[in-house]
Amino acid sequence: MRILIATCEATPLARTGGLGDVCGALPKALSALGHDVSVIMPAHRSALASGLPMQPTSCEFAVPIGNKSVRGRILETRLPGTNVPVYLVDQKDYFDRPAIYVDTDGQEYKDNCERFAFFSRATLEAVRLMELRPDVLHLNDWTTGLLAAYLKAELRGVPPYDSIATLFTIHNLAYQGTFWHWDMLLTGLDWKYFNWRQMESFGNLNLLKTGLVFADAINTVSPTYALEIQQPELGCGLQDLLSFRRDVLSGIINGVDYSEWNPATDTHLAAHYDASNVVEGKAACKAALQRELGLTVRPEVPLIGLVGRLVEQKGIDLVTAVMEHWADHVDVQWAILGTGERRYEEQLTALAERFPRQMAVRIGFSDPQAHRIEAAADMFLMPSRYEPCGLSQLYSLKYGTVPVVRATGGLVDTITDATPSTLADKTATGFCFADYTSTALAAAMERACQAFAQPQVWRQLVSTGMSQDWSWAASAKEYVATYQRTIARRREPARAL
Ligand code: ADP
Repeated sequence: MRILIATCEATPLARTGGLGDVCGALPKALSALGHDVSVIMPAHRSALASGLPMQPTSCEFAVPIGNKSVRGRILETRLPGTNVPVYLVDQKDYFDRPAIYVDTDGQEYKDNCERFAFFSRATLEAVRLMELRPDVLHLNDWTTGLLAAYLKAELRGVPPYDSIATLFTIHNLAYQGTFWHWDMLLTGLDWKYFNWRQMESFGNLNLLKTGLVFADAINTVSPTYALEIQQPELGCGLQDLLSFRRDVLSGIINGVDYSEWNPATDTHLAAHYDASNVVEGKAACKAALQRELGLTVRPEVPLIGLVGRLVEQKGIDLVTAVMEHWADHVDVQWAILGTGERRYEEQLTALAERFPRQMAVRIGFSDPQAHRIEAAADMFLMPSRYEPCGLSQLYSLKYGTVPVVRATGGLVDTITDATPSTLADKTATGFCFADYTSTALAAAMERACQAFAQPQVWRQLVSTGMSQDWSWAASAKEYVATYQRTIARRREPARAL
């Protein structure tokens, strides 16, 4: 099968979170299954600075954006260690910027609609001029939503586009790419599509909705989240549309790239370990991180880790409440790494300043430090309001770090709560709580601390987690089956739009 993955992020070229991890790893797994897979993404500044060799191609073009004609070209590289081609849409004005989505004040770039209309049209030009001929075009999140509309509304019946099936993956429904209605002009699509059944949502142009309406099939990144987004609470206003399309909506859990995330080979760690020497290995990593972060070096105290975007989704308000409440009377240490909303950054930093030997907070994005926290921590917190899949809890399992998670989305599908019966049958891997309150989080953490104090119980939790296989192999096979179904659907007679 020939697969083209269109994305805004792919590790190691550009990444702000899980989307980058997925689009860097899934292509490798699909290629290992024998499929012909390639990736197309914008030539962001971080991609050009990644150190990967970039070859120019002969593919140069101009596409209409509003009443302008904008030129671009395609560069080519490979995903490291593979033969998977990555095509980069090079357009300096749009993509040679310090960050991917937001300016230096954290505000979304004002021309985001224009940038991703261009990326979408450029992708279609690359398909035609480079004769890529994909059987399936795999779209990811709102930045690629217009591609589904172009293929269905403009290019139905037009070779070489007519036979291309589209699968649209929702990595996070909350980020929708909404713009004022006049941005319709930039897309070049007929105003007739600006209606509540297609591209319009609450008066705005909505590019995520556009993808969901026009793609041949949809999936999201866990079975539980696929159900949750059909309900008002987590449907972000699109629950009725998702429910209407439920016959083509599925959930496929993300995998882990164990070539990046494996404590036996991880180059960022003070010591390497696997299940056979996890106690000694983690102890060495823990002492090294305690020193690195200025925490008191104490092997016996539970070290709680958290790495992630500091945004409302991630439950940071619950974490600061427990940190504050526990500071004087519960003997634990905290190692927190993240960047995001200023209010959370400030609250966390203030706590760390008050309790420097007990709480370490690093504001920033550091992949090496993320690895070191995964290895050193005893427990890893993910008290998310919602979590489409979540990757960090899967890394934690591999690193022998016990996740404490809220029972939502992919966290439900990947972590088994420690209860008397799951401990007895050795399926427990973590601690889950349901209510979105700091009391419920604290109760789950107390259970975790009690288990930590019983070495036999803890060893069992750690070893069950470490023995699980969350690699991409199984999920990539599910993607292949979904692509096949999507291609078959595309071959059915077209319905009127
Ligand atoms: P999301 O996609 O919602 O951000 P995931 O758990 O799916 O959450 O993926 C988060 C990924 O981003 C993980 O690989 C995590 O290690 C990484 N990450 C997030 N914030 C940081 C940070 N500040 N520094 C390093 N890595 C980070």
